Amino acid sequence: MHDALPEKTALWRALEQGIQSILLGYGYEELRLPILEKTELFARSLGETTDIVAKEMYSFLDRNNEGLTLRPEGTAGAVRAGLEHGLFHQGPRRLWYGGPMFRYERPQQGRLRQFHQIGAEAYGLEGPDIDAELILLCARCWRALGLADIRLELNTLGTAAVRKRYRRVLVEYFSDHLRQLDEDSHRRLAHNPLRILDSKNPAMQALLAAAPALTDHLDEESTEHFAGLKSMLDGANIPYRLNPRLVRGLDYYNKTVFEWITDALGAQGTVCAGGRYDGLVEHFGGPATPAVGFAIGLERLLELFARSAAGGGETKPHVYFIVAGAAAKAAAITLAEALRDQMPRLRLTMHCGAGSFKSQFKKADRSGADFALILGEAEMENKTIGLKALREDAQQEQLIWSELAQVLSRKIEF
Ligand code: ATP
Ligand code: MG
Repeated sequence: MHDALPEKTALWRALEQGIQSILLGYGYEELRLPILEKTELFARSLGETTDIVAKEMYSFLDRNNEGLTLRPEGTAGAVRAGLEHGLFHQGPRRLWYGGPMFRYERPQQGRLRQFHQIGAEAYGLEGPDIDAELILLCARCWRALGLADIRLELNTLGTAAVRKRYRRVLVEYFSDHLRQLDEDSHRRLAHNPLRILDSKNPAMQALLAAAPALTDHLDEESTEHFAGLKSMLDGANIPYRLNPRLVRGLDYYNKTVFEWITDALGAQGTVCAGGRYDGLVEHFGGPATPAVGFAIGLERLLELFARSAAGGGETKPHVYFIVAGAAAKAAAITLAEALRDQMPRLRLTMHCGAGSFKSQFKKADRSGADFALILGEAEMENKTIGLKALREDAQQEQLIWSELAQVLSRKIEF
């Protein structure tokens, strides 16, 4: 579980705000959910045999012996909240959530025990148009954040009936090759054979490559939905790679599944994963409510963002304000507040405390600011202010107070 230190938090903020403003633009509304839920909620929604429930949850008994779990993902809580507050009875809802998630995994690059997601979910819409919208929304996020080289992989798991039939075919295939299955896969064969396809074990790859593909077992409804999605993505010029082995880790998916993947981060390359879970709301006793969503892994995305030009995450002040004397300090605060009113994106650091001009100039230089403003006794007397460029060889200018904002606006690029 990591601390985010000041040199990273500006980047975090820029990343989160970039995504959130796009969600807003597509009409998604924010849900703020508790970090703890009852343990049974995850067991019931994710499936007892999924990696998360079987071995990754932070679960404990509270003082009343109630089983609670630090949320490992957001969809279960969103469905719980939606049912509790009747959100699914009022027609389609577009929702998003964000925040920390907890999984007891082996920590490594791109895999943490506390990590952060932003997830979007659309409830009550069954057509492929909303699947396409969510994918387009992601693509727009990557573009807005200046992230290239994130590719889309796409698959369909078909309807529940298709999955059931395919499951039988798959169990038959793996049972014929029992000796080639690793231990994990043996365990999965009984409960969750589709997950075997997701195995990363190199020794099993040949076996998996030769396994029957679900795409050969689709029914008309699944095929039509998938064809609809593909043609909308084609129309929007969103390239994708069909990956028949993309199954996702959770039990509740059907029809569309997708992942956005980068090669730039090594083994943990999936920055966003999503799909359809039409049966989940009903599974929890709610009205039949088709649903589709995705979750972005923010740590992995941040890593890419930090390397991109857009992710400069600039925190250095534009202006460092140098002040000498008590009267000048009062005037400086008033001037700085007026500048902040007129230039909302200005980053201005006020020198606080004592210090000679010389030591203040040193601090200004170390702050990385592009400009120093200087207000001393002489300036106070004739109501002027000094402006000195710190990163180039230039003479100090003396400005009158009323022209300060205008001059700075010309010099500073936001
Ligand atoms: P994986 O196969 O990598 O374990 P997953 O299927 O468990 O992924 P999801 O539950 O779909 O992942 O979560 C969505 C996204 O959240 C992932 O694609 C990834 O970007 C991010 N994520 C998941 N687990 C972690 C983790 N332990 N640390 C950091 N990011 C994570
Ligand atoms: Mg996982």
